[in-house]
Amino acid sequence: KYAEDIKRYILTKDIIKLPKREKTGHKYTFGHVAVIGGSVGKSGAVIMASKSASVSGAGLVTAIVPSSINQIVETNLIEEMSIPVSDKDGIFSSSEEIINILKNGKFSSIVVGMGMSVNENTTEIVKSLLNIDKPIVIDADGLNNLAKIENYEILLKEREKPTVLTPHIGEFQRLIKREIPEDLEEIAKDFAIKTNSYLVLKSARTIIATPDGKVYYNIIGNAGMATAGTGDVLAGMLGALINRLLTEEAVKTAVYLHSFAGDLAKLAKSEESLKATAIIEFIPQAIKQLS
Ligand code: AMP
Ligand code: MG
Repeated sequence: KYAEDIKRYILTKDIIKLPKREKTGHKYTFGHVAVIGGSVGKSGAVIMASKSASVSGAGLVTAIVPSSINQIVETNLIEEMSIPVSDKDGIFSSSEEIINILKNGKFSSIVVGMGMSVNENTTEIVKSLLNIDKPIVIDADGLNNLAKIENYEILLKEREKPTVLTPHIGEFQRLIKREIPEDLEEIAKDFAIKTNSYLVLKSARTIIATPDGKVYYNIIGNAGMATAGTGDVLAGMLGALINRLLTEEAVKTAVYLHSFAGDLAKLAKSEESLKATAIIEFIPQAIKQLS
């Protein structure tokens, strides 16, 4: 169902914008992304998001992970750093520790949620992250935790730095506590306005809704991308680009670039064999072709 009063656009090459790398920049010029997530059995999610952030142009990336998986994370991340924090049964257990790391470190953006699990501790972590005065991208279990926080809409609204939420339809249903609504576009638009957040509602036809009531549709990408981990790759891209562009530009560019890289990966690998890591592999070519 399409409402008449919505300003609706399609994402194209012409309306996205890749950041310029200033000639004299140093690594902090290009942003330091904190990627918070993972749990035992789900270390790949945080590894992929971290790698994706660094090939998408971040100056530095640090994965903050439960200590049980730190060795696996370190083995798989070379250029990216990691900080292990205390955990219980392989899941984050202390929000203070994470908050202290963020307050004491030189981070410019936060990506949270991939593979982090959902329990009382992780919900507390997501709640306390909302008070950190930095741009934040909340994905996956970060959103499932957010859905458990009472009046989370108000907490989001009160934030001063940008918030990007990247639910697929299932995660969005948990956030709005409704079945898939027929008027999805209108609900997405109202949600973005009400929470003062950029909503990336992911599906075969991803919708971006902005806090000022605009709606963008992404129509590129392919069904090969319907496979585990592709959302984690998008979250990492967003964490990198949000430090380089205005938030709306960063969100539009990340969504388009992700699908464009997915289409290049499809050409090389076939839809059937496309894996999330192949999208990361094709980000460089996607950036070259779109710049
Ligand atoms: P997630 O569900 O978090 O793993 O994210 C999946 C990613 O793949 C999102 O960016 C979706 O937009 C994308 N995706 C999933 N299915 C399709 C499809 N059939 N066509 C194009 N993109 C898709
Ligand atoms: Mg996901």
